[in-house]
Amino acid sequence: MAVDSILSSPLGPPACEKDAKALQFIEEMTRNADSVQENVLAEILARNAHTEYLEGYKLGEATDRETFKSKIPVVTYEDLHPLIQRIADGDRSPILSAHPVSEFLTSSGTSAGERKLMPTIQEELDRRQLLYSLLMPVMNLYVRGLDKGKGLYFLFIKSETKTPGGLVARPVLTSYYKSEQFKRRPYDPYNVYTSPNEAILCPDSFQSMYTQMLCGLYEREQVLRVGAVFASGLLRAIRFLQLNWQQLARDIRTGTLNPKVTDASIRECMAGILRPDSCLADFICKECGEDNWERIITRIWPNTKYLDVIVTGAMAQYIPTLDYYSGGLPKACTMYASSECYFGLNLNPMCNPSEVSYTIMPNMAYFEFLPNEPSSNTTVSSRRSPPKLVDLAHLEIGKEYELVITTYAGLYRYRVGDILRVTGFHNSAPQFHFVRRKNVLLSIDSDKTDEAELQAAVAKASQLLREFNTSVVEYTSYADTNSIPGHYVIYWELLAKDSANSPTDLALRQCCLAMEESLNSVYRQCRVADNSIGPLEIRVVKNGTFEELMDYAISRGASINQYKVPRCVSFTPIMELLDSRVVSTHFSPSLPHWTPERRR
Ligand code: AMP
Repeated sequence: MAVDSILSSPLGPPACEKDAKALQFIEEMTRNADSVQENVLAEILARNAHTEYLEGYKLGEATDRETFKSKIPVVTYEDLHPLIQRIADGDRSPILSAHPVSEFLTSSGTSAGERKLMPTIQEELDRRQLLYSLLMPVMNLYVRGLDKGKGLYFLFIKSETKTPGGLVARPVLTSYYKSEQFKRRPYDPYNVYTSPNEAILCPDSFQSMYTQMLCGLYEREQVLRVGAVFASGLLRAIRFLQLNWQQLARDIRTGTLNPKVTDASIRECMAGILRPDSCLADFICKECGEDNWERIITRIWPNTKYLDVIVTGAMAQYIPTLDYYSGGLPKACTMYASSECYFGLNLNPMCNPSEVSYTIMPNMAYFEFLPNEPSSNTTVSSRRSPPKLVDLAHLEIGKEYELVITTYAGLYRYRVGDILRVTGFHNSAPQFHFVRRKNVLLSIDSDKTDEAELQAAVAKASQLLREFNTSVVEYTSYADTNSIPGHYVIYWELLAKDSANSPTDLALRQCCLAMEESLNSVYRQCRVADNSIGPLEIRVVKNGTFEELMDYAISRGASINQYKVPRCVSFTPIMELLDSRVVSTHFSPSLPHWTPERRR
């Protein structure tokens, strides 16, 4: 395709020759979505024909869609768990993938309380890198001049473990930041970060954040965009600034580095960046010393054109706070990805968050879609009668689907658990609104707590009330993001059978901690290692409150026979009702237990 035809494409003129190529690639992939998908599937099946998994389903040498769909079941992580455990334990035979498993990616989705382990292969890094390489060319169509400055991105690695068989297990971004693809990325004037690699790659989250913030402050005039992966991460950085600006200003005034930053490679690299600048230190003290932190992002980084953070899905709850700190700067949600596979990108990244649609890139994996119609019987009920899944090119606008993927790394017809709604097409590739992740009740950061986990946590904690002859008669929950970090609030209605011996504050605080101990490992990691979730809070409400809640729901049209207590609330009038009935509040007194997971 000539550059001319890209100029007339709906995406507009590219900023440079490199961008033109990237945009051309997007055009080619999306114009030929169906045939690209057919080829991707054939390639995946051909190379993996002799894996234990595909041989088990007697696929033979077939690589066509019909045979694939008729023989291969739609599965969840739990179905694959025994095979994944064998790989983790060191079985190097081609179980799922003919290519050797290079490492495990630890998803923030959990299974039996632990992060899911996604096997991946070396070449997937290139596929992820390819998707990243498309983001700035698209952004450059909407925001000009991004080559004239830098991006202040707060990027972090997390702890990694080894499986019993010796494979590394770590989050996908940790894998990416530690890869040669990231560390040795060629200089690109449109993609220069203020954070040095040494800071991003420091495993200590305080030292990493401190250094990234310090560099961002030194380069405040150059910063054109401010970002983190998710909205919660950017707000954590703001909170960090609130807590540490005095020390940061001191470092800038003296040109020396806080002694709490001990990492040798950071100290070495910062030696070339630090310089005494009393003007800048005065400025920071003046801005941060004010009680009012409204628009702090644009006050400190005045040339910021947009925030680069995901605010779709569960992260939408942070939009008002981000608007407060940034004076309503545009919030660009650029991509949609997971540990299993990187899916696609937003071709209109400066649009309003409520209008974000992600275009799935047909070259990333083979995609199928399970219609999400609760009334129909299209849900997967047995492995033997596969449901009718729809191909990428044949989706209907306005309908909701659950994403099912077949990847190069050896997941076949795997249910990701995301519900997407088709909003339109770019050429012949569908675009999706991210509706929700299935079964997630509460989420503050990357944690995802479902109803069963909350129920188990309440059951565990309420055992501590036995000595008070008290039980929890009803409960509901709320993700409170008014303060940073946010925290879980659990409303409890108690039945105390012995009013002379009702539960003490100490006991209820222990209940908070017992709940935290019972929640999954991602929650506990956020609490302990990332400090991205605050102490869990129990709000005890007056007797009869949940009956009032039911009366309220019925007054708004709920059926009295079908009414169920909502296990999570966010609707303001309900929150107001609950909060007006609170008799006492209790916070978890200490951190729950968390250590990097051992895989057995
Ligand atoms: P993980 O496996 O921990 O990498 O989490 C991946 C999940 O995060 C996806 O399956 C989605 O549920 C969610 N996610 C990723 N990107 C987005 C996005 N742009 N908008 C909303 N949710 C997202």
